[in-house]
Amino acid sequence: MTAEELALHGVPDSVRVNTIDNAGATLLAAGSEEQRQRFCPGMAAGEIVFSVLYTEPHAGSDLGSMATTAEPAGDGWRLAGTKTWNARTAQAHFGVCAARVRGHGDNAYAATGLFVVPLDHPGVRVEPIATVNPERFFTVRLDDVVLPADALVGAPGQGWSLLSEALGMERTGVCFAGRARRWFDQLVAALHARGQLEEAERVHRLGALDAEIRSCRLLAWRAVQGLAEGRLNGAAAAAAKWWTSELAQRVAWLAFDLLGPAVHSDRHFPDLVLAAREAPGLTLAAGTSEIQLTTLATDLLDGGDPWEEPT
Ligand SMILES: Cc1cc2nc3c(=O)[nH]c(=O)nc-3n(C[C@H](O)[C@H](O)[C@H](O)COP(=O)(O)OP(=O)(O)OC[C@H]3O[C@@H](n4cnc5c(N)ncnc54)[C@H](O)[C@@H]3O)c2cc1C
Repeated sequence: MTAEELALHGVPDSVRVNTIDNAGATLLAAGSEEQRQRFCPGMAAGEIVFSVLYTEPHAGSDLGSMATTAEPAGDGWRLAGTKTWNARTAQAHFGVCAARVRGHGDNAYAATGLFVVPLDHPGVRVEPIATVNPERFFTVRLDDVVLPADALVGAPGQGWSLLSEALGMERTGVCFAGRARRWFDQLVAALHARGQLEEAERVHRLGALDAEIRSCRLLAWRAVQGLAEGRLNGAAAAAAKWWTSELAQRVAWLAFDLLGPAVHSDRHFPDLVLAAREAPGLTLAAGTSEIQLTTLATDLLDGGDPWEEPT
């Protein structure tokens, strides 16, 4: 509910998503008691911020081909590699970083470990990336970063299942559905203010979109319910993420089409300016639309039912 309210009120959510939904969920699922005590209260209080360090220059959708390595060094670990498209890293204190743990075979799924990396640690370089997105992105270079043993969260090969689980909340689509609603309401208000809500055809089109946004919210909440009950499967999350993010993107494009470039100088509707800049990333972040569709199609072709109720 917090995530939805924040999205409905246009509050930037990447710090919360990365720190609470992602790193926080990972620490709660697999962190030691000491790790939880050290990080979780500060994260909940907004005093400790995490960045998510998964994507690499040559490993995004295909994260299994990640090249960042973690090898034993004395009692601890040495990390080397490059991460990229990491949101808000300059604002963060720590990164939760996926790395291939040496000595655990070639299969990335079985060899991935998640590590807590202090972002001011020797060997860590954080470099900004210029984009049109209102979010700020960074590349993080890890040049032989030596970490203590307790930097590892869970077991060395547990990283893949942990990071997949942590993406679950984002893939419910609650935040995307919230954006779609907020942007749509601002679009209607802008058209109304300009006296551009007269044409029946336009009103019908907006009415149909309004209905889609209402139903996509229900889909997102169905996914949240599945997550809360521990039975949200990958295909259901993929369907929710795909539809909600594609719909929010369509609302942003429609606003741009109907209001034209002038929307950029209309200070009464600041969100619609941000919408046009944010929309391209919605169908990429947390897994692209093509990847969600592949997940869904694979499940359906295997005879699965993403929304099957437990018996
Ligand atoms: C707003 C935003 C926030 C992000 N935040 C973070 C963050 O905090 N931390 C982090 O680590 N990463 C973050 N990312 C990165 C994000 O996870 C990647 O962009 C995403 O996984 C896609 O990877 P890629 O950019 O390398 O694209 P690629 O994987 O190279 O894909 C390029 C295109 O090819 C398509 N494609 C790829 N493989 C297939 C396939 N098998 N079948 C069909 N089509 C395919 C994709 O759908 C896409 O259209 C963020 C991205 C965005 C946009």
